[in-house]
Amino acid sequence: MKTIGLIGGMSWESTITYYQIVNETIKRELGGLHSAKVLLYSVDFAEIEAYQASGEWGKSAEVLSKAAINLEKAGADYIVICTNTMHKVVPEIQRMISIPIIHIAEATADELKLKGITKVGLLGTKYTMTQEFYKSKLIKAGIDVVIPDSEGVEVVNNIIYNELCLGIISEDSKKKYLAIIDELEKNGAQGVILGCTEIGLLIQQKDTKLPVFDTTQIHATKAALSAIE
Ligand code: GLU
Repeated sequence: MKTIGLIGGMSWESTITYYQIVNETIKRELGGLHSAKVLLYSVDFAEIEAYQASGEWGKSAEVLSKAAINLEKAGADYIVICTNTMHKVVPEIQRMISIPIIHIAEATADELKLKGITKVGLLGTKYTMTQEFYKSKLIKAGIDVVIPDSEGVEVVNNIIYNELCLGIISEDSKKKYLAIIDELEKNGAQGVILGCTEIGLLIQQKDTKLPVFDTTQIHATKAALSAIE
């Protein structure tokens, strides 16, 4: 079995879910007492968030590259970055290591294609929703992307940083997300990507009839299956 190198802590609320899913998947696949071989490098999210807010992506890339280099030295066979947003600096991190990074947007695009989705709604941080680094992976896979209007982008983003990353799960915020998901469907989305690793703590498939693609589930499952393929 290969060793998974997780870069977590962004936020740690969703890193818990990654740890749980990789182990549940290995248990389901191999049975008995089997569990995943995992190295976790968990960063201080306050430092990363400050770099995001000031646009100092290069500095955040340095922090995450250091994590990746250490995971490689410790014996990780590949890297899994437990956040969508920080995939913005994947090219910089990949240059510093010789093991692969399993890309969250590529794993999600594969899943969408499997389900025949050609137009999808995207929820995530304002960086993920409005910048090109993430959407370009979906578009490259032949999938059109719709995002909320500018007010919706702010609502979705603020709930991520002010609530979900702090472990706050609110009914009111859930209603706001579901209203925004309805809008995405009206704009032609055949499914919705929960493109932030904490959104699955608030919204699940049972909450909406629109097919939900939870990036944490997709990414962590792929990470686990890659260890035993
Ligand atoms: N975990 C979130 C994501 O998947 C947001 C936190 C971050 O900015 O990394 O994008």
